[in-house]
Amino acid sequence: MALAAVAATLAAPRLHRATPHHPWYLLGAAGAMFLVGALLRPWSVERTGWQALLGDAFTVPGYLLMALSLAGLLLARSGIQRHALIDGLIVCVGAALATTLLLAMPAAAIDGRPQVVSVLAGLYPLFDVVLVLLLVSLAFTTTGRRPAYVLLLCGILLLLAGDLAYAIIGAAGHLTGGRIIDVPFLLSCTAIGAAALHPSVAGLSRAAAVPVQTWSARRLLVIVPAMVVPFALIPIVAHKGTVERIVLTAGGVAMVALLFARAVAAVRDYAAAQLRSEHQATHDPLTGLPNRLMLAREISRLLSTVPPAQTPSAEPAVWVLFLDLDGFKLVNDSWGHEAGDHLLVEVARRLRDTVPEPAMVARVGGDEFVVARLGTRQETVTLVERIMERLSAPVQVSSAEVVITPSIGVVGTTAGMAPVPAVAAVTAEALMRDADTAMYRAKSDGRGRWTEFDASMHERVRERVEIELALRQALATGQLHLAYQPIVELASGKLVGAEALIRWSDPVRGPISPAVFIPIAEDSGLIAAIGRWVLDETLRQVAAWRADELVGEDFWVSVNVSPRQLRDPTLPGKVSEALERWDVPQSSVVLEITESVMIDASTVTDQVLFDLRRLGVKMVVDDFGTGFSALGYLRRHPVTGVKIDRSFVDGLGTDAEDEEIVRAVVAMSTALKLTVVAEGVETPAQQDVLSALGVTVGQGHLWSVPVSAEEFTERWLVALAVVPESTQDAAGSS
Ligand code: C2E
Ligand code: MG
Ligand code: MG
Repeated sequence: MALAAVAATLAAPRLHRATPHHPWYLLGAAGAMFLVGALLRPWSVERTGWQALLGDAFTVPGYLLMALSLAGLLLARSGIQRHALIDGLIVCVGAALATTLLLAMPAAAIDGRPQVVSVLAGLYPLFDVVLVLLLVSLAFTTTGRRPAYVLLLCGILLLLAGDLAYAIIGAAGHLTGGRIIDVPFLLSCTAIGAAALHPSVAGLSRAAAVPVQTWSARRLLVIVPAMVVPFALIPIVAHKGTVERIVLTAGGVAMVALLFARAVAAVRDYAAAQLRSEHQATHDPLTGLPNRLMLAREISRLLSTVPPAQTPSAEPAVWVLFLDLDGFKLVNDSWGHEAGDHLLVEVARRLRDTVPEPAMVARVGGDEFVVARLGTRQETVTLVERIMERLSAPVQVSSAEVVITPSIGVVGTTAGMAPVPAVAAVTAEALMRDADTAMYRAKSDGRGRWTEFDASMHERVRERVEIELALRQALATGQLHLAYQPIVELASGKLVGAEALIRWSDPVRGPISPAVFIPIAEDSGLIAAIGRWVLDETLRQVAAWRADELVGEDFWVSVNVSPRQLRDPTLPGKVSEALERWDVPQSSVVLEITESVMIDASTVTDQVLFDLRRLGVKMVVDDFGTGFSALGYLRRHPVTGVKIDRSFVDGLGTDAEDEEIVRAVVAMSTALKLTVVAEGVETPAQQDVLSALGVTVGQGHLWSVPVSAEEFTERWLVALAVVPESTQDAAGSS
């Protein structure tokens, strides 16, 4: 059986690809040692002198090899943890005390044979305990119980049983027992061999994440009995010799030392974990910079160091710089998130290099960084300019070099610069908000700029809030309505469609341009409700026109859709539902989206666009040419046409460059089978050039400004559409 077990363990690595190989070879070698030891033992116990030790000379190294084998498995799996090691030592000390005092020392006291042999016989169970401990540690690193593991554990427990039996008879004066006492060893060989042969053996050493170790009942079950041993042994040792008492005392001291080490380790680990989680909560994992939470604390701390009143600008003050990277989304979009991450790390590095300590550099959002420092205005301005310069140097991203400029908003607690509300105390939140506002201002002035906050920006913010409030009311009370602008065939002036444009006249402020309130509606999220209303109202109108037979099958209405609306995955469902409700065919609706939608597209937006297209509604890119106008975007997205921005139409007839641009757009659209509409056509000259360039459909003041539904019906449907058709009919029949 032992031979078979040795063969099995040596074969395991090849048979089941159990890697690493060495624990199995060590186990095989251990088995071979045991076998030789067992064969020599009956002979050697009869001898005296060194020969009496021959059996043990093989068995003891066998245990060592076996321990090394199990340690090898453990190391391959997860490494040995400090806690596990100390726990193991506690159990070992307990077991050592018990075996030494109860088995080894009584056996050694027996006369007529070498003491070493007796002592060893008493100590074998201790070796087994060490093996069991190693195996149990292995168990702590996994959750499931594999058959190979269970078999291995059984094998070693049987070994322990056999050795215990021998130790007990050894203490009573015998070195060999009846054959029955060898049965555990036979079974042990069988179990270990079977473990090596089972396919699950490959998983024993496979590296695994160590599950979080809590102070579990299982652990207590192993450790508590060991800790009780010294106390349990006191009455037994009390009437024995001095040596026994010294051993017990030494064991007790060792146990206390280990418990102490265990407590220290636990406290230290706890503190380390605490620090780690504190770091995680206050730092950005990507760049390692402090996050918003820590920044806010730091700004508050800085604020507490300067006088609460606004300081004159020559005095040191608290300064907050809010940075946002221009075009970061484009990098993410073109080269992937990994490249984006790389860029952010690089920007973080440059910022940290440029900004002198002790100023804090924090990352507060996707591509947003904040610098907080104490200093004079002059120093801060110099720093901002240095940051601008440093960040604008090209960055290697994937295979390309990109230039990323930051937009920076600056605010400080100085009197001249930042009239932060004198009434309220300046807070970290207020400073960050103001710096953010200034950054937005810098961005809207163009890329790569920096702006200092001033009170008029507050004014603007307040105005926005007021408009938002009024708009909410307007939507609820039906103050919004739609105007329609005809879209015509350039050559004939014949009506082909219309664009629905929202109008709002506030009772106090008078008419407000959608160019003003639509962005506010976008920011506040109100756009969803407004968009729903626009679509519904448009479809109601189209349905009414169709019912009155004022428009035909091929008449369509354009509806403007904001980027934010396209981020709502339920939009296609809502559009489909509205079409059904008003019984308007999909072909009668064109959605106008902006180029930015395609550039900043997320997976959600992409899905929404595709779902909309699948519904059968057409989609055109509004204000085409003002954004990135990349061919790739047009090809990747399911758009059906483009609307040339009026800034290009403006220059037609006078500006050769605009003409070239329109020509290029037409060529590209023809190639991609996209429709082209020119918007903002104001003069017959523009109309002529457009026609010559191959544009067939247009919209603009030349034909009509956007007008109310009633006026549109009067002027474009009742008066015109019907008449030419009847004359045509008449002409055809005559
Ligand atoms: P847009 O979609 O590009 O609409 C065309 C704008 O150009 C309209 O301005 C229209 O009145 C104006 N326009 C038309 N022909 C001419 C022309 O010949 N010359 C000049 N100078 N201008 C012309 P409007 O109505 O002020 O709308 C501004 C923008 O507001 C729209 O630009 C659109 O982006 C947005 N918008 C309007 N209605 C809605 C809406 O219902 N939903 C959404 N999300 N946005 C809307
Ligand atoms: Mg439009
Ligand atoms: Mg437009």
